[in-house]
Amino acid sequence: MNGTLTFLGTGTSMGVPTVGCPCTVCNSADPHDRRLRPSILVRWTESDSAAERLVVIDTGPDFREQALREHVMHVDAVFYTHAHADHILGLDDLRPLSFIAEKRGGPIPLYADVEVAQVLERIFEYTFSPEATYPTRARVRLVPLSERNPVHGVEFVRVPLVHGAQPIAGFRFGNAAYMTDVSGIPETSFALLEGVEVLVISALRHTPHPSHATLEQSVAWSQRIGARQTWFTHIAHDLSHAATNRSLPENIQLAYDGLSVPVKL
Ligand SMILES: [Zn+2]
Ligand SMILES: [Zn+2]
Repeated sequence: MNGTLTFLGTGTSMGVPTVGCPCTVCNSADPHDRRLRPSILVRWTESDSAAERLVVIDTGPDFREQALREHVMHVDAVFYTHAHADHILGLDDLRPLSFIAEKRGGPIPLYADVEVAQVLERIFEYTFSPEATYPTRARVRLVPLSERNPVHGVEFVRVPLVHGAQPIAGFRFGNAAYMTDVSGIPETSFALLEGVEVLVISALRHTPHPSHATLEQSVAWSQRIGARQTWFTHIAHDLSHAATNRSLPENIQLAYDGLSVPVKL
């Protein structure tokens, strides 16, 4: 099936511009230097029912603005990579979409590792607690992430990654993969990435960081994985879009908010 991968946001946890920062990238006039918190949307039309399907990976603090910008009218499933604020704090903005989902058959499934689900249950206690009484709480249900997670004909394969000291999830779907907040890739995960043609991987900045790969490390992984096209995301304000892309090979580039690329699912 033909599908589309859309970058809802390509920024690091603080977003770009970063609050209180006087740097040149934060004051850039280039719209590609404005980066909301990291998230993607995968969209396809199911071949048998002709239904349009939408899957979101992570709902960060900018999710509302991103969903409005991309005219998201429903969501079929959400996958979570890990439970840091820049990836989960927009969960409550699923509420209007979850009311639509409920009318169409049921709550929105949220796929998450058990440890991630525990954090979601704690932070959004008023949504998940069996005693929750808040009448307009999100109609969502947590689904434990498996190695392979089918959603309306597309399999989302969990790709184990490392983020500092923490194991987190990346995802392979069709000929594409989304791997954010990466500081390490276990050797066994490379087998899950064989044949990936569209790779999205995080690349924070040039300066080393304890839980994020540098641009140089991500270039090396991209070359090893060998996708036809690699897009970098989770980008800090250290990297100017235009100047950084001029320094990179043509098939390894910084993505930008709102970029949509075709994928095979
Ligand atoms: Zn992050
Ligand atoms: Zn800055």
